[in-house]
Amino acid sequence: MASCELLCVGTELLLGDILNTNARFLARELAGLGFTLHRQAVVGDNPTRLREDFLAAWERADFVFLTGGLGPTADDVTRETVCEALGLPLEERAELLESMRGFFRARGCDMPRSNARQACVPAGAVAFSGENKLGKPAGSYYFPNANGTAPGLAICVSGKCAVLLPGPPNEMEPMFLQTVRSFLSPWADGVIVSRMVRTMGIGESAMAELTADLLDVENPSVAPYAKTGESCLRVTARAKNANEAESLITPVAEEIRRRLAPYVYGMDVPNIETVLIHELSAHNKTVAAAESITGGGIAKRLTDCPGASRVLRGAVVAYCDDVKREQLGVHAKTLEEHTAVSEQTASEMARGARARFGTDFALASTGWADGENTPLHAYAAIDSEDGTYVRRIAFAGQNRLTNRLLTENAALFLLYQALNAHNSAHA
Ligand code: AMP
Ligand code: MG
Repeated sequence: MASCELLCVGTELLLGDILNTNARFLARELAGLGFTLHRQAVVGDNPTRLREDFLAAWERADFVFLTGGLGPTADDVTRETVCEALGLPLEERAELLESMRGFFRARGCDMPRSNARQACVPAGAVAFSGENKLGKPAGSYYFPNANGTAPGLAICVSGKCAVLLPGPPNEMEPMFLQTVRSFLSPWADGVIVSRMVRTMGIGESAMAELTADLLDVENPSVAPYAKTGESCLRVTARAKNANEAESLITPVAEEIRRRLAPYVYGMDVPNIETVLIHELSAHNKTVAAAESITGGGIAKRLTDCPGASRVLRGAVVAYCDDVKREQLGVHAKTLEEHTAVSEQTASEMARGARARFGTDFALASTGWADGENTPLHAYAAIDSEDGTYVRRIAFAGQNRLTNRLLTENAALFLLYQALNAHNSAHA
């Protein structure tokens, strides 16, 4: 198996200005190809330290991946530093200059002079796009950049390979998926495949208890993984190919789904809102929301998903009491006797939203996200023809955003459960 190291270049990473999402993306992709990643490092835009770190990694690993520092500005030094360290001269390429000019023309402007440097590649480098018919190549290659100007580079010498990729994730990720992955495929003599089983409404430790025996297995390995308001289990198999990995994973994933049935909302899905939009669409159902503590967050998350317009009719942010009364028909008496943060208010908000929007389901949220009203808590409610259900969410800390997110998740999970219950009752 090919050993590799990753070096992310950029002073902004060292300063904590941006999150190193390239490291996460590449770590996952390389695992998927069966490459063993031994080290990740971050170095600033400093040619001396970059050279030192690059050469140390080059000494140890079969592959050194670098991201960042391919830009047009003076602080972008990765291309020059790596080529100099490997003793490779750079040459400016007319075809790259032309395609960069085209990139700027398409955006209605002239190419700044400083960009010309990005048309430089190791002398003799060959364009690589699409299928790898080369086997394990030697020499230098460049990868066209469909979303920017800097091409990626692969420099293969003495059985080793340096792969230089642009820093911006919206350029690097498609480049990797469209060309670099296929370039690397001859070295990929095994794969690591992961599936993520996603649950809500159960804590990480309770989930781990129900699956304790599975957590001890080696291949596939099962690992719990907690997110805000969610607990996930990652099932990972190492195998010769994707099919074999799949057949190792499937029975274990199915067993997990069986044991955690009331809590599992999906496998390998991006989030619960995507599942909800899909399910509501499939069953021709509509939803509305009445949001206090979540301030529109439920509607935002639903509208983040393509297809939301088919199922979400609308939402009200009913933050103060008069809006809860006037827009949603919450009774003055309810607010007086039980306050705005109560099971009763949450129920009336959900019922009011469903009546006003004329939907099959309506969600509501009300609560204290921070401040003196301890214990901090919220209510999420759902109303449908099957009745009104309310869940109380107790908050552990004062983090406003976390508490709002927990409430959104509880509300969305109520909808998931209500939809399931409705579908099985009417199946
Ligand atoms: P650079 O090519 O180094 O000038 O990087 C250009 C931009 O890409 C940076 O300003 C960041 O916004 C982004 N970027 C660079 N490296 C990374 C990284 N490792 N993870 C996420 N974004 C990055
Ligand atoms: Mg930079």
